Amino acid sequence: MRFSRLRLNGFKSFVDPTDLVIADGLTGVVGPNGCGKSNLLEALRWVMGENRPTAMRGGGMEDVIFAGASTRPARNFAEVSLIIDNAERLAPAGFNDADQLEVVRRITRDVGSAYKANTKDVRARDVQMLFADASTGAHSPALVRQGQISELINAKPKARRRILEEAAGISGLYQRRHEAELKLRGAETNLSRVDDVIEQLA
Ligand code: ATP
Repeated sequence: MRFSRLRLNGFKSFVDPTDLVIADGLTGVVGPNGCGKSNLLEALRWVMGENRPTAMRGGGMEDVIFAGASTRPARNFAEVSLIIDNAERLAPAGFNDADQLEVVRRITRDVGSAYKANTKDVRARDVQMLFADASTGAHSPALVRQGQISELINAKPKARRRILEEAAGISGLYQRRHEAELKLRGAETNLSRVDDVIEQLA
């Protein structure tokens, strides 16, 4: 799976539709202070399912919507789409039936976020698992933000282990284990209710 293009519309400072071609060999973004480098990286994390507003340097998720400037009114929605080259069919099962995969996240004021994968509505969890299974995602250590290297050096062993697990592509398994444990607990509760009913009938 190779990211080939990132499209932003109304996301933070990118009020006008902006197309970023992710060519082979692109490893960093440089530019003057305040030009939007971090916003680009945040757009990439956001479309992959980031759900913590603090990771977007905001107080609420709607803070990612263009907030207006002296010459332009605020927007009502923000949209980011990530286009993935899937010619080699490396996308996980359920997403790998086309040469190109387009994942779109849109947030509308007072409505919230909605996701699409190749024009089909999907859940946030589906998008998060798609990227986790491909060893990437909103928390991928491959996306290095400012100050992250010194954080890594100063991190406690447990936090460092989490980063290594992300890199190894096993973080999706933790999510699945957590969901399986919740289901198991639900089944155990139901079983004990059945036992109570059987006891009452006996
Ligand atoms: P630096 O090199 O200083 O870290 P940068 O290139 O990473 O800067 P960003 O932090 O990506 O720049 O962009 C900051 C700009 O984005 C600021 O001008 C800020 O006002 C603008 N911005 C952030 N959120 C919004 C928003 N919701 N609406 C409009 N503009 C926004």
